[in-house]
Amino acid sequence: MRGRPDPSTDTDEDGPAACPYCGGTNTEREHPKGPSLCRSIHYCNDCDEPFEAMG
Ligand SMILES: [Zn+2]
Repeated sequence: MRGRPDPSTDTDEDGPAACPYCGGTNTEREHPKGPSLCRSIHYCNDCDEPFEAMG
C-alpha cells in the first residue's frame, strides 16, 4: 500500500539509525575498517555502545 506517508516509518537512509539498546536516535555513523560494506557501524551516544545496522 503506497500513497500515504507514515511518519512512524521514516526510514531515511541519511537519518540516524535507531539504537537497538535504548531505541534512541542519538547515534553517529562510524566508518568500518573491514570489507563488510553491507553493514554500517553506528555508535550510540546515550549508551556509549557501538552497534551494527544493515544499510
Ligand atoms: Zn542507545
